[in-house]
Amino acid sequence: MKASAQVVVIGGGVVGASVLYHLTELGWTDVVLVERKELTAGSTWHAAGGMHTLNGDPNVAKLQQYTVNLYREIEQRSGQDCGIHMPGGLMLADDRERMDWLRMAQARGRYLGMDMEIISAAEAREMFPLLAEQHFIGALFDPAEGHVDPTGVTQAYAICARQAGAEIYQHTWVSDLRQRPDGTWDVITDSGEIHAEHIVNAGGLWAREVGRMVGLELPVLAMEHMYLITEDMDEVAEYNAATGHELPMGLDFAGENYIRQERGGILLGTYEQACVPWSPRETPWTFDKQLLTPDLDRIAPSLEIAFKHYPALADAGIKNVINGPFTFAPDGNPLVGPVPGLRNCWVACAVMAGFSQGGGVGLTLARWMVDGDPGEDIWAMDVARYGTWASLAYTNAKVRENYSRRFRITFPNEELPAARPLHTTPVYDRLTAHNAVWGAGYGLEHPLWFQRPGEEPYEDVTFRRSNAFPVVADECATVRERVGLTECSNFAKYRVTGAGSAEWLQRLFTNKLPRVGRINLTAALDPGGHIVGEFSVARVGTDDFFLFGSQIAEAHHSRWFRGHLADGVRFDVLALSLVGLSLAGPGARDVLQSVTDASLATEDYPFMTFRRVDVGMIPAYVGRMTYTGDLGYEIWVAPEYQRALFDLLWEAGQPYGIGLFGFRALMSLRMEKMFGTWFREYRPIYTPVEAQMHRSLKLDHDFIGRAAVEAELERGPARTLGYFDVTPDQAEPADVVGDEPIWHDGTVVGWVTSGAYAHYSRRSLAFGYVPSELAVPGEMFEVEIIGQRRPARLLPEPVLDPAGRRMRA
Ligand SMILES: Cc1cc2nc3c(=O)[nH]c(=O)nc-3n(C[C@H](O)[C@H](O)[C@H](O)COP(=O)(O)OP(=O)(O)OC[C@H]3O[C@@H](n4cnc5c(N)ncnc54)[C@H](O)[C@@H]3O)c2cc1C
Repeated sequence: MKASAQVVVIGGGVVGASVLYHLTELGWTDVVLVERKELTAGSTWHAAGGMHTLNGDPNVAKLQQYTVNLYREIEQRSGQDCGIHMPGGLMLADDRERMDWLRMAQARGRYLGMDMEIISAAEAREMFPLLAEQHFIGALFDPAEGHVDPTGVTQAYAICARQAGAEIYQHTWVSDLRQRPDGTWDVITDSGEIHAEHIVNAGGLWAREVGRMVGLELPVLAMEHMYLITEDMDEVAEYNAATGHELPMGLDFAGENYIRQERGGILLGTYEQACVPWSPRETPWTFDKQLLTPDLDRIAPSLEIAFKHYPALADAGIKNVINGPFTFAPDGNPLVGPVPGLRNCWVACAVMAGFSQGGGVGLTLARWMVDGDPGEDIWAMDVARYGTWASLAYTNAKVRENYSRRFRITFPNEELPAARPLHTTPVYDRLTAHNAVWGAGYGLEHPLWFQRPGEEPYEDVTFRRSNAFPVVADECATVRERVGLTECSNFAKYRVTGAGSAEWLQRLFTNKLPRVGRINLTAALDPGGHIVGEFSVARVGTDDFFLFGSQIAEAHHSRWFRGHLADGVRFDVLALSLVGLSLAGPGARDVLQSVTDASLATEDYPFMTFRRVDVGMIPAYVGRMTYTGDLGYEIWVAPEYQRALFDLLWEAGQPYGIGLFGFRALMSLRMEKMFGTWFREYRPIYTPVEAQMHRSLKLDHDFIGRAAVEAELERGPARTLGYFDVTPDQAEPADVVGDEPIWHDGTVVGWVTSGAYAHYSRRSLAFGYVPSELAVPGEMFEVEIIGQRRPARLLPEPVLDPAGRRMRA
């Protein structure tokens, strides 16, 4: 065994093998994989090997597409049979919502080049004669679905990696990991030690235990999963003989099952409601290529539907039932990337669909390690999307929820209930008493909207407009015409202090730093000129700053800041040690002025001022800006003051007709002001030039990514963020939700990032990226909303107050 290596990958399942392969592909060949038993000995060997490209997140879908297309190549290069079958797959809909969902999935696939087709139930039956047509109303056919041999694929990755110089040690258990002061690692195994620059935790079923070796509690949990294989069936043989090929795969959402041909019989797997976690606290190291005891009673309700939907199955003999464990993160997507707070420590785990995603996960992680950048927008898989709040018990509740909803629709306005409420701010009870409908982001509860008194605080889930629509319209009118109050604690907040802070931040930010007492907007870029983040920067001293950013990216952004930290600079994540309330609307100044001695007149407290102010008796920092684009203030206080602040403002606001507004109204208000968000418009695949962030780009100082920005400005961006006025269907209006394709002259040319109905302006608006040459004001496009192409005109400026007079008033 080698005494040292550049990388030690821990775990020889399909994911670890893929990471090893991709590292060698990118030129890192001093790499080692350590496997406690033999390759595939975790969850890989008993997988059904199914694969598909469809995913709710188009960026993950892209990586799945890459994975599916990789198998032929590694099969050829390794000489190892991967058992590739590509019969295509049917996703079967039994009701209108599911049909809508399929249409939206088909639309999303368009700009990824996916060639999927909506077909009728009768056509689906022709392709898959085992199904009983009367239970379905249509289907989506995806030709890029199939299945592979799990062991063949893992071996093929391993062979290719070995050919390139990687070494694999089987029957070698990593029992401990110790970091040296220089950030390198001693990997302690039962066959000796390896000194490694980097370690990768690809421990699959044991990823949690490997994480604990370095003090981490990774949000990952294994669930039991069952599939059964029938005896050979005449119906299958007849189909094969008649068509000359195998049956397509099937996904029956209503039955919560998947089906495919396995040799002469059928393989049927279920995601049952009565799901069961496996080894919820600790995975035994003694577990070895074992299966779990099948429990057919648990999947009986799913089987009952399956026998109705595929009647021939009811008479088929069951040859085998497989019950095996495999792992999930709380949202079902993998955990990939550098672990925040630990140098040279990487993870690639919680990969629940190793055969759809393993290739993309390996590619992403290898790029991140070798190039310092994953090369794609992989936010949906980033390990940093969870903070320490994602405890073992939280993960358990969420994973069970996710498993049991695997084949359920999650509507764009749907908030899932498990593990909630967890994080709340001090005004939670106050806002609940005002009939708040709550949502959760990064674990924290935030008010979405406020139901009318006496009515149930509940939102219908839908692809169209919900019962919240008229209420949110009223909230928007309150802000634009009187004064609205909302909670704004759901920003990420950081404080940067210490000698050299200004110099350090200036090197990171595209905008010039604000003067003391002022706030401005900025972007941070990677060396390639892509957006890392978008922040409000408030300066309270020469070397003393508050930064406000996207809350969901708190761990993601703080990992980046800390990765660039300079000597003498202190970077603190404030989390809920600083909470806020925001007043917005023409009456905002009057309300706040009535409870503070500080003069808020524009000449004394102009737009974009940020200062320490006493509000009543409460010490606060007050920034004169809000995301509503109206006259407004964000008032930041220590949590122990937040309730007193709420009571004070609420009382003071009564003569001015104050009303509460929530996140839904905020999203509507920001749309009519043409304000983008990091979470959608300013994601890491875009550049500030494409995103039209010119006001935050000042080329008068040096910053990371500046050379790339200059080069792009010189040649012009390939795509541009557009702002669209969409005409919804009159009979059944629906607004964009994000990821819809944008058509121009009969071709898909771009995609929507986000949008909303702008209640106050009475327009349905959207943001989206299109080729720069088409981004001309007035140009007509179409946005495909639930299968309908709706006209969309590109607008030159915000639909409300383009000169920004309201916020400067
Ligand atoms: C019944 C069933 C059906 C499935 N069907 C499908 C399907 O159709 N399609 C699909 O895409 N996915 C399917 N899956 C999921 C799939 O199996 C997983 O996504 C995949 O196996 C995950 O691979 P992995 O490499 O992350 O983990 P694992 O396969 O668990 O590999 C981890 C490896 O790390 C090793 N290891 C851990 N700790 C250490 C240590 N300390 N030292 C050394 N080695 C260590 C383990 O021995 C193990 O071999 C199915 C799973 C089950 C249970």
